[in-house]
Amino acid sequence: MRKKYIAGNWKMNLERKSALALVSVLRERAGAREDVDIAVFPPCVYLAEVVRALEGSNIKVGAQNCCDQPAGAFTGEISAAMLADVGADAVILGHSERRHVYNEGDELINAKVRIALAAGLEVILCVGETLEERNGKLTEKVIGRQLTAGLALVAARELGRLTVAYEPVWAIGTGLNATPAQASAAHAYLRGVFAGMYQEAPAERLRIQYGGSVKPQNAREILSANDVDGCLVGGASIQAESFLGILESR
Ligand code: PEP
Repeated sequence: MRKKYIAGNWKMNLERKSALALVSVLRERAGAREDVDIAVFPPCVYLAEVVRALEGSNIKVGAQNCCDQPAGAFTGEISAAMLADVGADAVILGHSERRHVYNEGDELINAKVRIALAAGLEVILCVGETLEERNGKLTEKVIGRQLTAGLALVAARELGRLTVAYEPVWAIGTGLNATPAQASAAHAYLRGVFAGMYQEAPAERLRIQYGGSVKPQNAREILSANDVDGCLVGGASIQAESFLGILESR
C-alpha cells in the first residue's frame, strides 16, 4: 500500500511574511500527520527560512528547480548541492512551466534529475501532455518519452527517492482537471513503462501524483482514483485553508 504524498508547489508566489504565516498554520494543523506525506516547495529565496520553520515537523521542504551543473560560472543558477546544504529535502523537475515557458528539454531535465539524486535530494519528476497532443491521441507517446528520457541512466538504487507527477498541461492553472478515469489511465500507463525500465517491484512502490487544478472540492475524487498516489498542487497550495482542505479530503 503506497502512502499518499501531497505536495504544494508555490511557484513564484507569496512573500517572506505570508510564506512564514502559511507554514506556521500548516505546521500547527498538519505537521504531526503520519498518514500522509506532505511537502511544500517555496521560492528558493525563502527555502532556508521555511526549512527552519518546519524543522522537527513531518512536513518536507523542497525547491522548484535546480541547475544541471555541479558548480561554476552559471550566473543565476542554484545547484542541487546548495539546495541540500540549506536543508531542502526535495526538488521538482520537469514541471510544464519549465518545459514550455523556459524550453527545457528531456536531456536537460534528465541531467537535473541525476545531479539532484546524486546530491541526496528526493525528486518529483513531472510529465504531461498538451491539449493538442491529447487531442492527437499522443498522450501515451509523450508521457512515456518524458518518463524514459527523464530517467535515463538513473540507477535502480535511487528509485526510493523518486516520485513521478502526471500533470496534463491543459489542466495546470486552468480550472480544468483530468477526470479520475483519465488520471488512472495515464498513471497505469506510466507505471507500466516504469516496470519495463526497472521491473515490477520498484514500479509497485513508485508513487505517481496527479497535478492539475486540484482543490478541496475535487481532491477526494481524484485521490481515490486507481493508481493515484497523491497530488501536486499549485494554486490551491498557497492558502492554508485550501491546502489543508485537500489534506483533509482523504
Ligand atoms: C502545478 O503547478 O503543478 C499545478 C498542478 O498547478 P495548479 O494546481 O494550479 O493547476
